[in-house]
Amino acid sequence: MSLLNRLSEIVGPDHVSDGPAERYVYSFDMTENEPCRPAAVVMPVTVAEIQRILRLANAERVPVVPFITGQNVGGLTIPQVEGAIVIDLKRMNRILDVDEEAMYAVIEPGVTFGHMKRYLDLHHPGLRYTYPLAPPFTSVMANALLQGLCDLSTRHGAMANFINGIEAVLPTGEVVRAGSCIMGDDNWFGRFPLPDLIGLFSGWQGMTGIVTKMAVQLWPKPLHVRYAALFTVGEHDTTALLKRLVRTQVLDDADCMSISLVKMLLGVPPPVEVFPDEPQYATLLTVSGNTQREVDAKFEVVEAIVDEAHMSEPRVNLIPWDAVSVLMGKQADSWVDFPSDAFKILTQYDGLTWVGTYIHPARWGEALEGGRRIVEKHGFELMAFLKPMNGMHYGEFKFIVRFPKDPDVVDRVRKCNSELLDFALDLKAIPYKTPVWAAQRLLSKCHPGFVELLRRVKKALDPNGIMNPRRYSL
Ligand SMILES: Cc1cc2nc3c(=O)[nH]c(=O)nc-3n(C[C@H](O)[C@H](O)[C@H](O)COP(=O)(O)OP(=O)(O)OC[C@H]3O[C@@H](n4cnc5c(N)ncnc54)[C@H](O)[C@@H]3O)c2cc1C
Repeated sequence: MSLLNRLSEIVGPDHVSDGPAERYVYSFDMTENEPCRPAAVVMPVTVAEIQRILRLANAERVPVVPFITGQNVGGLTIPQVEGAIVIDLKRMNRILDVDEEAMYAVIEPGVTFGHMKRYLDLHHPGLRYTYPLAPPFTSVMANALLQGLCDLSTRHGAMANFINGIEAVLPTGEVVRAGSCIMGDDNWFGRFPLPDLIGLFSGWQGMTGIVTKMAVQLWPKPLHVRYAALFTVGEHDTTALLKRLVRTQVLDDADCMSISLVKMLLGVPPPVEVFPDEPQYATLLTVSGNTQREVDAKFEVVEAIVDEAHMSEPRVNLIPWDAVSVLMGKQADSWVDFPSDAFKILTQYDGLTWVGTYIHPARWGEALEGGRRIVEKHGFELMAFLKPMNGMHYGEFKFIVRFPKDPDVVDRVRKCNSELLDFALDLKAIPYKTPVWAAQRLLSKCHPGFVELLRRVKKALDPNGIMNPRRYSL
């Protein structure tokens, strides 16, 4: 019996295809990474179906690529070898449990940020999750597995920090668990005190197994929130001020962007103009509290630091979000209410890419300045982004490029990203959501013991190398 027929026996004929349309749709993403058509696409809906698919693939040595919506902006769901099966998990989209007391949600892979927000607002209005600039139809689980960042990351760090536990199917078909859920389905409160085996799946880009359930931490929805935009000048002064502000620990979140990116996100159509005397960066600051007095007191801490900076540079200013809303209208309100709404601006063309990294705070100014020069040299709009992370222990910086996918523009994008990556690696920044070419360059520069450990873990979990092969050169 053909592989397709055997897959069809597992998931039913409506949920498997090797038709040219499906193979084409799953062969590319919005980035500049080379497309590659899978042999077939299969859409399971139960853990048992995933087990049967992986056992079959493992026995037949067929490569598989886990997929939810393919919006990772790193080419991570484009197969790297011929003959792969894409396992699309979006039919598994249930929120299985919300625990009000321990504040977590247990979700399946296909639960999106849109689902999560709507469900919590409706059924658990006192709780919130945290939201990225990513489209509302992208996966909460994939975002956590990719160690991404959302609108509580300045306080709580990368999204993998939000994972309390997982259930996964290994490439050989066994179901495994990590975290406190090893004691039962009503017990997903955390990862400790245990060997932290979440790390066998987080950051692996689907190379070690398929995660079928995950508990993610929720947070009390604050009763009072205040937003403001901080305008600053110059990369080194901007980052120095940002570090002082975030170290006070009064901010929930801080998103620093080049002024051109802010204008785009507020709805200014391209080409966005930047005037010579304008502030060059703007940071969206979020402060919350249980009472208005608590918020005001925290805000005074911010104002005192900004006032001092304003004395030496009058263009440094803190503008209340109410004023920004009056000027910019609905777009400004929706940005703070549900940041995912901003994705429409970033995806105005068919191409979108970035080099994104996590980086030591000592090198933020240099990173922003050097990255800007590279982007300007290659003639792209400046879409620079810096987020202090995890209470000021490190930061995320990235340079975003949106582009029409014309061959010569794609070529320019590749050159720009290649230069940005080399520059970032020289600053000892660690690239995230790395396409294969970037992972290879990282591995060639990092401690060889890390590369060896990666190979051993991969071999132990995936002896036949069927899971998303060639990622990280594994
Ligand atoms: C405009 C735009 C803005 C964005 N902004 C942000 C942002 O602010 N912050 C941020 O962090 N990200 C951002 N992203 C990136 C991305 O959208 C998110 O991280 C997203 O949640 C990924 O979900 P996905 O459904 O696209 O995952 P996919 O691309 O389908 O999968 C991502 C990776 O996980 C693997 N995988 C998927 N499911 C499983 C599973 N069940 N088990 C094991 N491996 C699996 C896949 O093989 C792949 O390697 C943005 C993207 C866009 C397009």
